[in-house]
Amino acid sequence: MTRKSGSPYSLSFFSLILKIALAMMQVMVYDYRNSLHNYTHSEKKGDINMSEQQIMNQAEQVLYKTYNRFPVVFDHGKGMHLYDVEGREYLDFGAGISVVGLGYGNEELNEAMKAQIDKLMHTSNLFYSEPSVKAGEKLLEISGMEKVFFTNSGTEAIEGAMKIAMRYAFNKTGKNNREIIAFKSSFHGRSLGSLSVTGNDHYQEPFRPLIPGIKFADFNDLDSVKALINENTCAILTETVQAEGGIYPPTKEFLEGLRALCDEHDMLLIFDEVQCGMGRCGEFFAWQHFGVKPDVMCVAKGIGNGVPVGAFLACGKAATSMVPGDHGTTYGGNPFVCAAVAKVVEMYQERHIPEHVAEAGTYLREQLLALKDRTSCICDVRGLGFLQGIELTIPVGDVVKKALMDEHLVLISASHNVIRFVPPLIADAADIDEMIVRLEKALKACGG
Ligand code: PLP
Repeated sequence: MTRKSGSPYSLSFFSLILKIALAMMQVMVYDYRNSLHNYTHSEKKGDINMSEQQIMNQAEQVLYKTYNRFPVVFDHGKGMHLYDVEGREYLDFGAGISVVGLGYGNEELNEAMKAQIDKLMHTSNLFYSEPSVKAGEKLLEISGMEKVFFTNSGTEAIEGAMKIAMRYAFNKTGKNNREIIAFKSSFHGRSLGSLSVTGNDHYQEPFRPLIPGIKFADFNDLDSVKALINENTCAILTETVQAEGGIYPPTKEFLEGLRALCDEHDMLLIFDEVQCGMGRCGEFFAWQHFGVKPDVMCVAKGIGNGVPVGAFLACGKAATSMVPGDHGTTYGGNPFVCAAVAKVVEMYQERHIPEHVAEAGTYLREQLLALKDRTSCICDVRGLGFLQGIELTIPVGDVVKKALMDEHLVLISASHNVIRFVPPLIADAADIDEMIVRLEKALKACGG
């Protein structure tokens, strides 16, 4: 009797059953992931993405609501352009609020960042690391300042600068009754210290009482500053060019006057270059236009091209006011962010970014002035380099939204009646021309 062994029929039957079961499991796992994360399949990009509306809905559920966001979900960027999750292109004249100077997706910068990620992202300020030295040296080189302290944001740079001023006064008098003069319509950040020197009632009101001893003068009005000085005044703090408050450049006489008052009364002059600095005004720092050097300078935004980093820099008597133990930060100046700063400054130098901005900024201004002549709703054009603003007689919010949604042009406002133009610093004449075409359409659609 021959034994019926290893029937090929039964083997192929079982392997068929097995294959069907595996396929069913794959489908089930895929469905489960989809239902779990509300994913939909994007045919266009060929990968799995949350849909635009789902992302916006979930953001409203998840994120603490301190912003009214525009209904756009950005996915990636290249150069002057942003792309949303549906692959639609937007021309960007906001640069992530004056941050992305080198534009989006810069490969050289990205490679440097990747190399640093693989090497070391963080240690702490208890130890030395090379990137902080390189980044620090670069910032001192382009500013002529003497010492740098890295922070995580512009706000924290302001906090540090304020502490230098307070420490400076305390070192002199041993008292805590110091006063700082700041300016109306200024913006320095949202932390309680930086909010205390932000000359805007709307931002301050719900959070009072703030830091005592802050007085507000009028920007570009030296007499209003003089009137506030007394023996307790230890510093004058101002944005070199007021940005958020409506784009107001200083006069040379005003900055020179502030410098003279500080020298005369032994006070520190602090410039906030968080927005107007790092090439944005056509010099590395806006004060270099006017030849008026501060004792302390705050930077952030552009120095990391999107990597969150800021710094305060000091020189002369301000460079030694604080001593070990007076100030610190866990993340500030870690190898990751400092690799970005060192590379960004190097690339600005190699590509002559400030010089480019000086030239292209003049062109931008000319085009805005020409647009003003062609339309009836622009009552002023003001600014420096790639920090320009147009003051409108029609609601700014409507124009910004129209430009974004219909013309795919990213703009941001400043104050309640100004549109600010703060493009990536690589913007050229063709980008500016294209921006003007889209802006003009948006203005017209809004009745301008
Ligand atoms: N200073 C100025 C002039 C700013 O424009 C800003 C932010 O817009 C800040 C300080 C605060 O910087 P950050 O938002 O990085 O804290």
